[in-house]
Amino acid sequence: MTSEARTRNPYRSAHYVISAHHLAQLPPDEGCEVAFAGRSNAGKSSAINTLTEQKSLARTSKTPGRTQQIVVFELDAERRLMDLPGYGYAKVPEKLRAHWQEVMQRYFETRKSLQGVVLVTDIRHPMKPFDEQMLAWCAATGVPCHVLLTKADKLKRGPAQAALLKVRKALPEGATAQVFSAKTRDGMDRLIEQLNRWYRFPEPDRIRSEQKKDS
Ligand code: GDP
Repeated sequence: MTSEARTRNPYRSAHYVISAHHLAQLPPDEGCEVAFAGRSNAGKSSAINTLTEQKSLARTSKTPGRTQQIVVFELDAERRLMDLPGYGYAKVPEKLRAHWQEVMQRYFETRKSLQGVVLVTDIRHPMKPFDEQMLAWCAATGVPCHVLLTKADKLKRGPAQAALLKVRKALPEGATAQVFSAKTRDGMDRLIEQLNRWYRFPEPDRIRSEQKKDS
């Protein structure tokens, strides 16, 4: 990868590290971490694959509720992307769901390196109880939340903007939202901009001007 491409999209370097069944299996709580959450089938895997420009980094599957682990991807030695389980789907047994709610709550409450949550939700069916629960945990623990209204290509521009405005109005203070499409890559720049802030990646423009200054 050229340094220019890395400057544009530092998420291309993401690689798989571990699938954790317990919080104790997670990498040390250091550096910066951003978690992706979403109900099964919301489009979370597709969003991660689009962001990282890797076709099958996060598995895309039509089998709901299959993964009940936190999947950890590393961007570099100090930065991780966490793929949280999409529990909350009706087909997940109640006992397992309760267990995962407990694990998730503890993750939000205790993980010091967690900088923010990207909440992936289908633009046609946003803000289901799962999403409300995630927003509530974020609000309770002071973790910033950015809502990704994905599959925006399934709506015309007008209805997509209307859905965005409606969601924005309903969000708790501090939470943000944008439209996104894994299919057309609409919204990629906005997502990268948000993530760069959380991961404390320098702004591409600043890198370029600093490179110029050095040369
Ligand atoms: P996950 O369960 O949240 O990881 O969802 P997936 O990423 O596996 O996506 C669920 C289904 O929605 C798959 O059939 C995807 O191809 C489809 N999908 C995901 N994102 C988009 C999108 O932006 N546009 C369209 N048209 N389909 C999408």
